[in-house]
Amino acid sequence: MSNAVITPAMLDTPLCFDAMREVGSGLGSGGFVVYDTTRSIVDVLGVLLRFLAVESCGQCNACKLGTGAMSEIVQRVQRGEAEQTDLETLLRRSHTVTDQNRCFLPVGAQLIVGSTVEAFVDEFVATVEAGDPTPADLPIPLIDWIDDDTGEVTWHPRVHLRRSDWADADEDPVATRLAALRGEGTGED
Ligand code: SF4
Repeated sequence: MSNAVITPAMLDTPLCFDAMREVGSGLGSGGFVVYDTTRSIVDVLGVLLRFLAVESCGQCNACKLGTGAMSEIVQRVQRGEAEQTDLETLLRRSHTVTDQNRCFLPVGAQLIVGSTVEAFVDEFVATVEAGDPTPADLPIPLIDWIDDDTGEVTWHPRVHLRRSDWADADEDPVATRLAALRGEGTGED
């Protein structure tokens, strides 16, 4: 969650620091989150930004406010309520989210937003134009356990309950958000 997106054309890139840097991304700690074409890139960006916005510790205003603002914009796109100018605002906020940063978290947010919107701009524009809610059924990709025998992954059971103040929500915000996206509620966190 801290480097530029890798598109299908880059999948043969060797997993080393130099090669990953050459394609405009990075190796980081060697972990990857992979989504196939059945997923909405808007939902992918939404879940990654929400995680970063929650985890931003709040010592630096541009980081805490910027990741939160970008997360809200993407959620608006997910709800089918965004305008094309929101995409411009999203990119503009990504330029300032790193102002006076004390750690790498907002750099990751900046890289993810910039590279994702650039690589999938048609999908973002079409999603905004359509004005329909996206599926938004992705878990926050924090792994709690991997079964050595089956390879089955268990997602962290409570990370989706965490709010920006690092308190856990009483109600499941994902369920609330999904209900809102389906027109069954009023919104989430
Ligand atoms: S830049 Fe790092 S230290 Fe500053 S608010 Fe963001 S997460 Fe916290």
